[in-house]
Order: sequence, then C-alpha cells, then structure tokens
Amino acid sequence: MGNLILKNARQLVTCAGAAPRRGLDLGTVQVIEDGALIVQGGIIDMVGTTEAIEDKLAHGHWYEDPEEFTTIDASGQVVVPGFVDPHTHACFTGYRHDEVELRLGGRKYLDILAAGGGILSTVQKVRDCEEGALADETYRRLLLMLSLGTTTVEVKSGYGLDMESELKILRAIAKAAEMAREQLTVVPTFMGAHAVPRELKSEPGEYVERLCREMIPRVAESGLARYCDVFCEEEVFGPVQARRILKTAQEHGLGAKIHADEIGECGALDVALELGAASADHLLVTGEAGIRKLADSETCAVLLPGTAFCLRSGRYAAGRRMVDQGCAVALATDCNPGSCFTESMPLVMAMACFGMGLTPAEALNAATINAAHAIGLADQLGSLEEGKAGDLVLLDSPDYRHLVYHFGINQVGMVVKKGEIVYVRD
Ligand SMILES: [Zn+2]
Repeated sequence: MGNLILKNARQLVTCAGAAPRRGLDLGTVQVIEDGALIVQGGIIDMVGTTEAIEDKLAHGHWYEDPEEFTTIDASGQVVVPGFVDPHTHACFTGYRHDEVELRLGGRKYLDILAAGGGILSTVQKVRDCEEGALADETYRRLLLMLSLGTTTVEVKSGYGLDMESELKILRAIAKAAEMAREQLTVVPTFMGAHAVPRELKSEPGEYVERLCREMIPRVAESGLARYCDVFCEEEVFGPVQARRILKTAQEHGLGAKIHADEIGECGALDVALELGAASADHLLVTGEAGIRKLADSETCAVLLPGTAFCLRSGRYAAGRRMVDQGCAVALATDCNPGSCFTESMPLVMAMACFGMGLTPAEALNAATINAAHAIGLADQLGSLEEGKAGDLVLLDSPDYRHLVYHFGINQVGMVVKKGEIVYVRD
C-alpha cells in the first residue's frame, strides 16, 4: 500500500468514467498532457496536470511528511491504468508446441484429441503435478504478465476434471496469488465444466451430476473461487447442462461466466443472458440477433482475438459491430497451453484493432475498465481516478496509441501496484 507522487507524464490516460463503457463512450479515454497523480495508502487521491498536482502538494495538509512518498518523474513516458486480463487458463503445466505444429500441418483438432493430445493431455499433466510445483509455475507466469503491464488477472481451473484435482488447482491458484499479492490482483474461477474427463467419456451426464451435487458445493464452501465457468458447445456441455451447472453455482454464491459461441451458436448466449452472467466469452460466431440481445443486457462480452488468430479460424468475433450496437466489450488473452499461449494484453489489443476494427482508445478501455467490470472489480480498479487502486503502467512510448501501432514489442518501462513500484525494466 504505497504513497506515490507521479509527475510530468507526457500523457496520462485515465480511462475514467462509469463502467461498463459502451458505444461512443468506449472510444473515449481522457488524455491528460503533462499528467500527474497522487496515490496515498495504495489508493489514488488525485489525478490532474502536473501544475494542478504541484499546487495541491504546496497546500495539501496531508503532505506533512514528504519522506513517506515515492516520487516518479514520468517525463517522456505515457501512463495508463494497469491492464486487466479477465479470462485466462494460466494455471497449467506442460507445453503443447508439437500439437501446434501438427495443426499447422493440417491435422484437425479432433484427430489430435483422439490421439491423446488436446486439452486432455494437459489434464493428465496437471493431475500428475504436485500442488506446490503448479503454484510456482503459475506464479512465474503471473510475473511474466506483470512485465507486460497486467496488474489484475482472472485465472480458471479446469485441467483437473475431478474433485481432488480441481481443488488442488484452485489451491495452487490461491498460493500463486498469495506469492504475487503485492504485484497482481488474482480472481479465481472454478471451471470443472471445461471438458468431460476421459474416465466419464461415455457418460457425460454423470459428470454433470457430480459437478452439481459434489464439486460446486464443495468449491463454494472452500472459498477458493469467485466465479464458475462452463465451456458451452453442443459437443461439450450443451445449453441445458450449462444452465443447470451455472444455476447451481449461483445458488452457492458463485458468479456465472460462460464460454459461448466459439464454435457454434447452440444457445449458450441465451443461458448467459437468462442467468445474468457476468460475462459471455469468445462470441466468435455470434450473429446479429445475439449481438442485439447482448447489447440490451448487463452481461459483458469478453473477446479473445488471440485465440481466433492462433486457431487460424479465418474470422474474428464481430467486435466492431458489438461496440457499435452498444455491447459492453472487454478483451482478454485466454492464456492457455493449447489454443492461445500468450500473456500479452498489448498484443491482444493490437489484434482487436487490426483484426476486429476497434480503435486504440476502444481497445484500451476494453483492456482496463471494461475488463475490470467483467470480473466485478470496476468499482475498485481499471481506471485512474480518485478512490481507485493506484495500479498503473508507464510506457516508454510517445503516445498511448503506440500500444497498438507499434505491436509485438514490450513498451512497459515500469509497473506500479497499489502505489508500490513492482516492476522496472532492466
Ligand atoms: Zn477459455
């Protein structure tokens, strides 16, 4: 919980305003030239121009002990809110680079799955991994995210697919979050409904029974998850099963999220809207009717363009259309060992612009304030305004639009979490 005075930023981009941002509002980020801010006890106390902040410092009664404040001179740098990544599967072990090569050679994912690859190969590796080792690996991944400007991240379980393994993963996420407590905020999600485990392949209904009768109540009781997520597709968990799983989760006090419309429109989005889910994620094939319903709802559209890119699906979600229709659009990496292995929110923002036609301002809001909204934290973080966490990123760039324009490199010079400097580039 640091005390910080930051001054002289070439641009200080606040992303301030009510969440979620929609339509024209999503395209407005508020840029303060020669910007400054004060963080006290980890919380932003004031945002303005350097001149206004210096005036405050000269007269502020609280500024009696300047020794207690760290001062940052952000001359020549751009300051943006810490990125929020609201959809990751970052708690895993074992890589699948060989599978990527097979896919690039034309092998179909379902063939790879049948040969023992795909998500079930990660499940085996995670089941075989000791909890502490899984936590350490996840922690290292969180630090990599931090070096790319992410200060808040959602992490899902879902590579265990049985009671004990899922609890082990959720405990590993909690351990990693504890190790990273001064660097990142971690929001854990239970995703036992990621796939049907191999041992119950012939009786998927039995697995849904176990999820609803045993796993969800036990996970909720453990306090290790804030949300429950379901991979809803006709071939995985259909809409009837997804509704039952998420309803059960809500009855046990967990928030609802859903992987929807990634392969087909099977009714997953209707389930999300009916249950008032916090977010519907992917939405790769969502059509016009779905987009209009989504725009009229409180459910956030979390788009994952990195996955569309990596799977060579030949299309991105209709992000431009969703923004224009008034959907609450957010962006996430989907960081996972199979379909999208990246920790980089700036790369995802570039893909949102070049792949889906968002503007850099829309992408930035979608990666900060709206992403915070998608995980229920927009009242605490996601923008640089009074009363919010002092989570910020200093970019070695002349303009915030370079986040998108100059893609594929890391522009992050420094990261501040709750007013403390937690990352400095060598
Ligand atoms: Zn996912």
